[in-house]
Amino acid sequence: MTQHYDLIVIGGGSGGLSVAERAARHGARCALIEVGRLGGTCVNVGCVPKKIMWYAAQLAHALDDAPSYGFRLDYFGFDWHTLKNARDSFVQDINTWYRGYLAEAGVELIEGFGHFTDARTLVVGDQHYSADHLVIATGGRPRVPQLPGAQFGITSDGFFELNACPQRVAIAGSGYIAVELAGMLHALGAEVTLLLRKDQVLRPFDALLREQLMERLREDGIHILTHTQVNAVARMAKGTLNLHCTGRGDTLEVDTLLWAIGRDPNTDSINLAAAGVVTNPDGSIPTDPYQNTNIAGIYAIGDVTERFHLTPVAIAAGRRLADRLFAQQPDRYLPYENIPSVVFSHPPIATIGLTEEEARHQYGTAVRIYQTRFRPMYHAFTPRQPQTAMKLVCLGPEEKIIGCHLIGEGADEILQGFAVAIRMGATKRDFDDTVAIHPTSAEELVTMR
Ligand code: FAD
Ligand code: NDP
Repeated sequence: MTQHYDLIVIGGGSGGLSVAERAARHGARCALIEVGRLGGTCVNVGCVPKKIMWYAAQLAHALDDAPSYGFRLDYFGFDWHTLKNARDSFVQDINTWYRGYLAEAGVELIEGFGHFTDARTLVVGDQHYSADHLVIATGGRPRVPQLPGAQFGITSDGFFELNACPQRVAIAGSGYIAVELAGMLHALGAEVTLLLRKDQVLRPFDALLREQLMERLREDGIHILTHTQVNAVARMAKGTLNLHCTGRGDTLEVDTLLWAIGRDPNTDSINLAAAGVVTNPDGSIPTDPYQNTNIAGIYAIGDVTERFHLTPVAIAAGRRLADRLFAQQPDRYLPYENIPSVVFSHPPIATIGLTEEEARHQYGTAVRIYQTRFRPMYHAFTPRQPQTAMKLVCLGPEEKIIGCHLIGEGADEILQGFAVAIRMGATKRDFDDTVAIHPTSAEELVTMR
């Protein structure tokens, strides 16, 4: 027998949990299908355990800085195992908390792998479920290239399973995950080599950020090999890996290889064809601004779609979809402009809006740039001297702020408030008229000339 609901969502990650909970609170009868651990990528193998590792790396840097502030330390090393156990148990608590979150909202949890049999019906095991509204929120998975020995490498999922800090690590890739994990592994004791197939990290970001970060990574002692791509991996008898790379005559010997070359959407095994839902060539699901797929009554949110792959984006899209379907808010949707984002590098990067290159391409000479670069006071007498850099991209005679790009200590926490102002249409004059908070790095954003 088929059980019927108002809404069923496949996937209990950031997006799926949010749409189901919000819809249930609006009175809809909802079910959520999840094959793994509740919380999805963000909670289990993404933002949450990643941020714990980032904090650990920050502490390692603080220990390096402490003697300059007069502290005499007896340092007995770092125990990866202690950190991993604490981190894993924190994540398990969140998994448990999400069970309560669903139960309290009145969402039925169906555990197992869901797939379509037609445009109204999903199957889990031998049970059939139908709904008026079906939401695909199956997220993505790390991409592993097709080349000999690629399986000897790990991905970000494998990073969270490591029981010890590897000695020599090569990271293939240049995006968020590559630079974040490179910084953490380096700070916690690994010798890290970044393998870039082109010449820079974070290529879609503003030039100021990528140039500043490349400089910092090198100063910190991370090796960066540009125009280098792995084309075969061999495992040696002693357990090490030999990487054969294009762009280099010789091989690179490491203990661990980590692929960080992007993620693929989980759409290939849910039988979308049975429902008639089309996908892009890369497997992602195209949607209109209201998260509608090409089939009425079927929606897609989060990493399975083609837009920003960030937790708050999946959550916002899910909640707004539920408001639209069940709370008489027909115009509610998530506009995909001015989405703020942070890269948890060391120091972190925070960015919103158009890069200088994008703005000049769109608006030409109507663009005016303000930027600054300075050594933050905290580093006045530390051996490490990371610089902070900031850029405002302004448009037209009123100098509306259409881009804000920061790299430096605290950038991750600074941007959120400025993102509100920018979303509200702030101009450079509004920034100038705001009284500074002194002494901070953030004050530079309201005192730039
Ligand atoms: P997911 O969270 O991936 O959830 C999808 C769920 O669907 C999974 O639980 C999966 O098990 C389930 N599923 C899949 N197929 C089926 C099926 N057929 N049946 C049943 N269940 C199924 N974003 C940030 O904003 N900030 C960060 O700091 C950040 N750090 C990250 C670090 C890493 C290492 C990674 C990999 C990602 C990070 N992200 C970060 C991105 C963020 O994790 C994702 O954007 C977010 O989790 C997407 O949510 P989602 O609901 O679309 O998918
Ligand atoms: P990204 O899309 O950020 O970066 C992957 C990059 O790797 C590509 O842009 C490309 O850069 C390079 N690349 C692609 N294929 C290859 C290849 N075959 N060999 C070598 N390099 C290759 O992917 P990530 O995996 O880092 O992260 C996935 C997504 O997860 C992010 O886009 C982000 O949305 C999300 N995320 C968010 C975080 C946050 O908010 N802090 C943290 C982690 C992930 P190029 O063209 O320059 O070679």
